[in-house]
Amino acid sequence: MNTEPLYIQMRVGDNVAIVVNEGGLPAGSRFACGLSLLERVPQGHKLALVDIKAGAPVLRYGVRIGLALQDIRAGAWVHEQLLAMPAARSLDELPICNAVAPALPPLDGYSFEGYRNADGSVGTRNILAITTTVQCVAGVLEQALKRIKVELLPLYPNVDDVIALEHGYGCGVAIDAPDAIIPIRTLRNISLNPNFGGEVMVVSLGCEKLQPERLLPPGSIAITDQRDAELDVVRLQDDAHIGYQVMLDAILRSARTHLERLNLRRRETVPASELVVGVQCGGSDAFSGVTANPAVGFCTDLLVRAGATVLFSEVTEVRDAVDQLTGRAATPAIAEAIRREMAWYDAYLQRGSADRSANTTPGNKAGGLSNIVEKAMGSIIKSGTAPISGVLSPGEKLSSRGLIFAATPASDFICGTLQLAAGMNLHIFTTGRGTPYGLAACPVIKVATRNELARRWHDLMDVNAGRIASGEASIEEIGWEMFQLLLDVASGRKKTWAEQWGLHNALVLFNPAPIT
Ligand code: CA
Repeated sequence: MNTEPLYIQMRVGDNVAIVVNEGGLPAGSRFACGLSLLERVPQGHKLALVDIKAGAPVLRYGVRIGLALQDIRAGAWVHEQLLAMPAARSLDELPICNAVAPALPPLDGYSFEGYRNADGSVGTRNILAITTTVQCVAGVLEQALKRIKVELLPLYPNVDDVIALEHGYGCGVAIDAPDAIIPIRTLRNISLNPNFGGEVMVVSLGCEKLQPERLLPPGSIAITDQRDAELDVVRLQDDAHIGYQVMLDAILRSARTHLERLNLRRRETVPASELVVGVQCGGSDAFSGVTANPAVGFCTDLLVRAGATVLFSEVTEVRDAVDQLTGRAATPAIAEAIRREMAWYDAYLQRGSADRSANTTPGNKAGGLSNIVEKAMGSIIKSGTAPISGVLSPGEKLSSRGLIFAATPASDFICGTLQLAAGMNLHIFTTGRGTPYGLAACPVIKVATRNELARRWHDLMDVNAGRIASGEASIEEIGWEMFQLLLDVASGRKKTWAEQWGLHNALVLFNPAPIT
């Protein structure tokens, strides 16, 4: 590992850069350009490349990430106390479709082994997912799952897993409030995720507000193999259930029918265009936008070139780059949909007396990210360079391909849950501070932003993008490595670390509507 003092400047014209060296650099460290540090600067934190006058813009990614609150000398540590955050860009008079990249050359010849579904979608795993209408049934279903795993799953070797779609919604909620559509359609669309093979099975209590027919109305499961069949529901309050054991037996009986059908499925060779990859970041640091996210962005372009779908999300982390997004929209209608989602989220935050600045965490700041503007510029790089070809509101299901902005909160679990509802069959997740994040419904490939994290969490991180900062690999090389790994994981040839250890975070529904 190179030990000479190193910094990374993202764009020519930036007046700050970040320190690359592990452990940071002491005062007096001299860079190859001749600049010396006036004080200690931690790894990933910013140093001033030139003298910056009080009130002048501080530029990173070619963007104003703040205004200097005092004179800052070249070689000084530029931390959050020295920066005033710029106001959020107004949603009026946004540029529309003025920066649409020319179509990227197609990338042919890549395929994976997946499970083709009746509606044409493709799963990367073969999982029985049991939908719940209300939290009340969770305890009973958890015990039923234990029995299913021991008594039934070994009889159906082609089925990867059985999971509960458990959540806190379903009763005690204002179910007729306009925004209740978000948690309800999220749950509906997750039940139809490609990794569940079109098998829909519901466990309901009986008296809850979210009745099974409201969750999955007739017609909503017509895309599945159960065409024309009635919705399969086990209601715990049914008169036939005399005691707890009978409820468990009923759930097992129902599960057996679905497991039998899932067990008949076989992987087949399908084009890479069937991938639906959700990209996300969490526990970000200043390297997220330098190493891991740019490599994900390169991989996003490869996927879009191969005809696949990439979902990028996290509204508060792209809000400050809204003009880049509307500029990249393929059509004016898509630009307007992006603006509409941002306006909805601004109003949602305002209702709670918050704004986008509520996003950054103590860990982000310790990792060198001063504010949400800086974080957003590093986050949006995950979306690559392709034109944005679609927009989904929270909980909506995909109906087109290409690069899609799926509007979600940045919360890791809520974002992952909403991307599952959109139809995600693979997930890429970048982290700088480190998180063991995983989902039961879909493989999660985790990418470390720094060598030190990749070394320390050697059995949790699937890709080490830290090699970009240390000069051992290029953004393109790591992007290709991710692309190949996606195909291997999608095919079941490789498992992610989170799969290997069975690390599964909860589904968390986004419910902006009132609780009663
Ligand atoms: Ca996140």
